[in-house]
Amino acid sequence: MTSQNLDQFLESNISDLKEKGLYNEIDTLEGANGPEIIIEGKKLLNLSSNNYLGLATHQDLKDVAKQAIDSYGVGAGAVRTINGTLDLHIELEKKIAAFKGTEAAIAYQSGFNCNMAAISAVMDKNDAILSDALNHASIIDGCRLSKAKIIRYEHSDMADLRAKVEEATGSGAYNKVMVITDGVFSMDGDIAKLPEIVDIAEEFDLITYVDDAHGSGVTGDGAGTVKHFGLQKKVDFQMGTLSKAIGVIGGYVAGKQSLIDWLKVRSRPFLFSTAVSPADAAASTKAIDMLMKSTELNKKLWENGDYLKKGLKALGFAIGNSETPITPCIIGDEKQAQTFSKRLREEGVYAKAIVFPTVPQGTGRVRNMPTAAHTKEMLDRAIRIYEKIGKEMKLI
Ligand SMILES: *Cc1c(COP(=O)(O)O)cnc(C)c1O
Repeated sequence: MTSQNLDQFLESNISDLKEKGLYNEIDTLEGANGPEIIIEGKKLLNLSSNNYLGLATHQDLKDVAKQAIDSYGVGAGAVRTINGTLDLHIELEKKIAAFKGTEAAIAYQSGFNCNMAAISAVMDKNDAILSDALNHASIIDGCRLSKAKIIRYEHSDMADLRAKVEEATGSGAYNKVMVITDGVFSMDGDIAKLPEIVDIAEEFDLITYVDDAHGSGVTGDGAGTVKHFGLQKKVDFQMGTLSKAIGVIGGYVAGKQSLIDWLKVRSRPFLFSTAVSPADAAASTKAIDMLMKSTELNKKLWENGDYLKKGLKALGFAIGNSETPITPCIIGDEKQAQTFSKRLREEGVYAKAIVFPTVPQGTGRVRNMPTAAHTKEMLDRAIRIYEKIGKEMKLI
């Protein structure tokens, strides 16, 4: 017999979540995650993916992935440090370093796993980490794993950051102090104040770590938020993911050679988890190569983002202060945000509601992620449906 204690735990916790309306039922896509998707046999306009440039379904990436399978097979066969390092992984790392303007880079199996790996390879219980209040879950978990003291500062509040840095460095209690932030914050689409953060870091000799999961492929003509501000020589860790704008799977840190050398001998997911498959590595390299050669997809993404924002704003929706194509439509009340999202879906638009605790109470919203793959016709259709539901629910 399996554990009754476990059964009790699961039953009481799952029913508790269901009662509170917090139990997430996951939708299944019947086909590719493109600008339009099929769920339960119904075609929906997709405004929920992180596939910013439409690369997840790009023909050139599919072609190189198939070639890689033909030449190398489907798996890397081992962890990187035994004999799972293929020339495809080295090419990918070289490409990432060139893309990010750094001496070197290390690739991991995912962005989440990269944050687990990289923070704890450098920081320990004698150190402190200043972390933006809205940082991603994987940053928070990576910081926890390091056992360093975690000091949260108010979101993008530079006065608060400075005060807490002064306190942490002045106390003499820590060997090393790191400041860590998302480059682009995914719920509001705002950009971290990297020039100020870097100034403070230089003044107090802090280690700087920027998670640019939502910036890569988007800001800085595609090269990310650090490039956007021209700070490639001043940020220690440029972390990113290959699974959002790049369209494939994987994560990475780009930085100076000595840092990458250290991560290759000390970061545990690199040492103890098998490398990404040949197809993944080849497709990611191809994607980055395309972004370095042409900004066409990047321009299209921003054009589409601006178009959707303008359309929703003209209708009278509150779209917040996004500085990127991420377009929140802030409804306020949590239940209304959920109803709004449900009605959008019934009318053919798939845009997820985001509510407390993911965002502050009373700022329930529907989050829209237009991509380079959307056509003007699709965006017009979305705006028309927004207008219809907005009027129906007396929100505009
Ligand atoms: C999505 C995300 C990650 C995780 O990346 P994956 O490659 O999907 O594991 C890490 N950090 C931030 C800020 C993210 O948005």
